Amino acid sequence: MSALPSIRLGISSCLLGEEVRYDGGHKRDPFLVQTLGPMVEWVPVCPEVEVGLGTPREAIRLVRDPKDLAEVRLMTGKTGVDLTKQMRSYARTRVRALAREGLSGYILKKDSPSCGMARVKVWRDQGMPERNGRGLFAAELLRQYPNMPVEEEGRLHDPRLRENFIDRVFMYRRLRALLSSRWTIGDLVRFHTAHKLVLMAHSPQGYREIGRLVGEAKGVPRAELMRRYEDELMAAMAKPATRARHTSAPHEHAATRGRPLQADARPGVAPGIGVGHRRLPPRARPAHRAADTDSPSRPSPQRVVPPRPALSRPGIERTDVAQSCVTSPGWAVRPTTPHTRGACAPCHAAC
Ligand code: SF4
Repeated sequence: MSALPSIRLGISSCLLGEEVRYDGGHKRDPFLVQTLGPMVEWVPVCPEVEVGLGTPREAIRLVRDPKDLAEVRLMTGKTGVDLTKQMRSYARTRVRALAREGLSGYILKKDSPSCGMARVKVWRDQGMPERNGRGLFAAELLRQYPNMPVEEEGRLHDPRLRENFIDRVFMYRRLRALLSSRWTIGDLVRFHTAHKLVLMAHSPQGYREIGRLVGEAKGVPRAELMRRYEDELMAAMAKPATRARHTSAPHEHAATRGRPLQADARPGVAPGIGVGHRRLPPRARPAHRAADTDSPSRPSPQRVVPPRPALSRPGIERTDVAQSCVTSPGWAVRPTTPHTRGACAPCHAAC
């Protein structure tokens, strides 16, 4: 099993504390810098500085073109200089160059006329602005990499959206590693099987539809198969996993194999899923056992505690050390705080 290289994420520079904003300030995000930062390699980009506007600079904004209401332009606020062409041209080239960086995801600064992904203010000649714009750099990024996980820092403060983003980053990274290798249909089938539980937790319907594609893989041209598999997989992963689906996925998986989970050789697993999914941090839930590995095709069935514990709850990063559960071999015990005893999925109360 070969380990994948470190996770590289693109990011709006100001979120890392770089003083690149129009007023010479920054928008350092403590979660990104302190919690996520040690686990990833950042690729910072400030479109407004790189396009040559300098720091400090006149504030810019999106403005609806009065002659063509479908068109949105990037203008300086006071002097009214139109920067649309300049920014679009820069964004096309810069975003294309990002392909060499091996990015697995991107985090954008919300509300920015360059970096904002959605709901950016669009001004008109008169009246209040509408919140329906998208920054020009962000628009180009999403156009060129429609399947890459992209989020705004504001949305990552929501634990459910954060978990979904991290899930997508890992899935995208493994998928790109597979598809950029000399893969075979067998590799694709193994990859799909390895991620069955995670996919079912995100979208059971997506899992079934992608399964049909994999079943017909031999009759589909390779380039089309790659494109469709990536499109459909990442669309399914974009649906946030729910607690109910985290619980039902292992049961459905066991049922399709003709072995009810209660008959599984590992004692106590079935009741543990029901209890555990309510108490465990999101990435320690049962369906993630199949996802928490760096191998693109071979999940480790033993791993319960993910290697990225701090992503789920800010309070657990210093104490999240796994040890084997004495009553349920193969499951891991995780301390929940520095002062409490550990807990594992099958026998939460007993450890
Ligand atoms: S939001 Fe984007 S363009 Fe604005 S300062 Fe931050 S990185 Fe630069």
